[in-house]
Amino acid sequence: MGIIVEQKSEKVTASVKWVLEDPKQKEVWWPSEELKKMAWVSDESIYEQADKDPTAFWANRAREGLHWFKEWDRTYERNPPYFKWFVGGRINASYNAVDRHIKTGRRYKAAIIWEPEPIDEPARVLTYYDLYREVDKFANVLKSLGVKRGDRVGIYLPMMPEVQIAMLACARIGAAHSVVFSAFSADSLRSRLKDAEAKVLITADGYYRRGKVLNLKAEADKGVEGTPVKDVVVVRRAGLDVDIVEGRDHWWHELMEDADAHCEPEAMDSEDILFILYTSGTTGKPKGVVHTTGGYLTQAYWTSKWDFDIHDDDLFWCTADIGWITGHTYSCYGPLLLGATMLIYEGAPDYPEPDRWWDIVEKYGVTIFYTAPTAIRMFVKCGEEWPRKHDLSSLRILGTVGEPIDREAWLWYFHNIGGGRCPIIDTWWQTETGGTLINSLPGIGPFIPTVAGRSFPGMRHAVLDENGNKVGVGGSGSLVQLSPFAPGMLRGIYKDPERYKELYFSRYGEEIYYTHDGARVWDEMHNIRLGGREDDVMKVAGHRLATAEVETALTEHEAVAEVAVVPAPHEIKGEVPVAFVILRKGRQPSEELAKEIIARVTKAIGPTAKPENLFFVPDLPKTRSGKIMRRILKSLMKGEPIGDVTTLMNPEIVEELKAKVGYVEAGLT
Ligand code: AMP
Repeated sequence: MGIIVEQKSEKVTASVKWVLEDPKQKEVWWPSEELKKMAWVSDESIYEQADKDPTAFWANRAREGLHWFKEWDRTYERNPPYFKWFVGGRINASYNAVDRHIKTGRRYKAAIIWEPEPIDEPARVLTYYDLYREVDKFANVLKSLGVKRGDRVGIYLPMMPEVQIAMLACARIGAAHSVVFSAFSADSLRSRLKDAEAKVLITADGYYRRGKVLNLKAEADKGVEGTPVKDVVVVRRAGLDVDIVEGRDHWWHELMEDADAHCEPEAMDSEDILFILYTSGTTGKPKGVVHTTGGYLTQAYWTSKWDFDIHDDDLFWCTADIGWITGHTYSCYGPLLLGATMLIYEGAPDYPEPDRWWDIVEKYGVTIFYTAPTAIRMFVKCGEEWPRKHDLSSLRILGTVGEPIDREAWLWYFHNIGGGRCPIIDTWWQTETGGTLINSLPGIGPFIPTVAGRSFPGMRHAVLDENGNKVGVGGSGSLVQLSPFAPGMLRGIYKDPERYKELYFSRYGEEIYYTHDGARVWDEMHNIRLGGREDDVMKVAGHRLATAEVETALTEHEAVAEVAVVPAPHEIKGEVPVAFVILRKGRQPSEELAKEIIARVTKAIGPTAKPENLFFVPDLPKTRSGKIMRRILKSLMKGEPIGDVTTLMNPEIVEELKAKVGYVEAGLT
């Protein structure tokens, strides 16, 4: 495309004095004139305009971007800590993602390009018209299984078009979907299906991962035991010979054969639940984050359009699995609402070789590419010869999400994948927020390694100190969101209102949403650098995981008396869990036993949560009231100064633990 992102560091270095003191921060890029010209937004005044009246701003966006069967009566309603958007409005997500486009020139445009993992298997392309027929048919299938408006449906599928079809079919008839990551274990699936009270589960026989076929149906069979699931729909993906339970299990293709290709979309209330997505909180039990319809769709539409500057001739590829919020918003709803063409890929990024992703970018001419720092770090390790084998000149915009991106990874991505032409949109957001909240926009900038950017127009954030005062330029504290909250924000935790209040609206009161992230105000423009979680939540390869969840799984082993799990830094995954285990009396530590205990985590959560290391210890650092001081264990693993230990009940244990983990204070090596 020949779009050059010019380096104009003077602008920021001139306006923020302390930036000058850090030579690395001369790395500030701004969009070129060409990039600005083609961008949907390139005029900075958009921020000010939106901030004057965010409610009116979002009302205009909702009207302009979406089709409403009936317009809302009130745009925003507050009842702290609850709030609603587009109250009284009637809308349907699948109508907006599919039906609208088949009435336009996009009717035969590719909606989804699916790249299977086996290299000799042809891609599948679904046009918007194909998608329309499949969604309607599957919506009728769900109805025939007794699924009604207001019900919940579980989805446990790998990345393949049936995922989007199933999600949109649920939305069409007003059932809430609850997708469970296909690499999660049967136990994880079961607890989610139970909590959501899902009637039906949609799964596949198996799928490909690094050249192997994984038997998903076997996990699903275990996962539905003891849940309210009455029917299981199985997509034939891998041709596995799986057990079919008479009366409960049905092949997708057989049900679809007889299904009618027209299904009237339900006119949903703007505040009806669109989906529940489970994520890790600070306790052992994952929480069902509830997203409703009108507000979520509005935010999905506009953040997709402006963050990634998606145009009709773009090919957008978000590499996130559908099991995560990023998959929901940017591998399903967002691009489809825009009538864009998106790519999805079934398999591993480095299969059969570490250039698989770059091969895909070249083969299809991907123009916008959105991934996670953990993947970038993996590619940095593989070496730049892999992307260099491919023509990546189709790329125009790059994105990243999931955890803070370090300067080295940012620059590698910028130069080796983006060829120094493409802005990197570092999007900060959460499962709870439904869509992105903080990032620079491609036509406005700036693009600064490790600095995500500003609040999206019409959203308000602040960084607060312990006393709830706003910090100024250069200051650090807790990131919060201020009212009016973004339209796509969670409306609750499924069946647990107390937890919703306690987690998000207790730290700074009922009018301020606490993000649980630390942040720093970077400059006068209010660009933000994120500093990671302030609670006991880790990001393992970009996946959110509570230390408490891993601890719960470990304590299930009968040899374990007490356990503490903390994150340790990891070169590629960012963070990994490590476990400190006190054994029950009479049990002897051994490698075999460590493996057995660790296997509990794979069973309870899945392989992504497996502790990287397990230390058998005689004791854990505790306060006088008996509370485990995880902070000390964290510092031990990070090589940070341990600080004062005199207030501990058992300060002597710290030296022993230092020896055990091979502690070296950073900076002393
Ligand atoms: P999840 O709900 O799994 O998407 O995780 C949300 C958490 O991921 C946030 O609270 C942050 O800690 C982290 N996160 C997501 N995106 C970014 C980003 N661009 N920069 C820094 N941290 C991020």
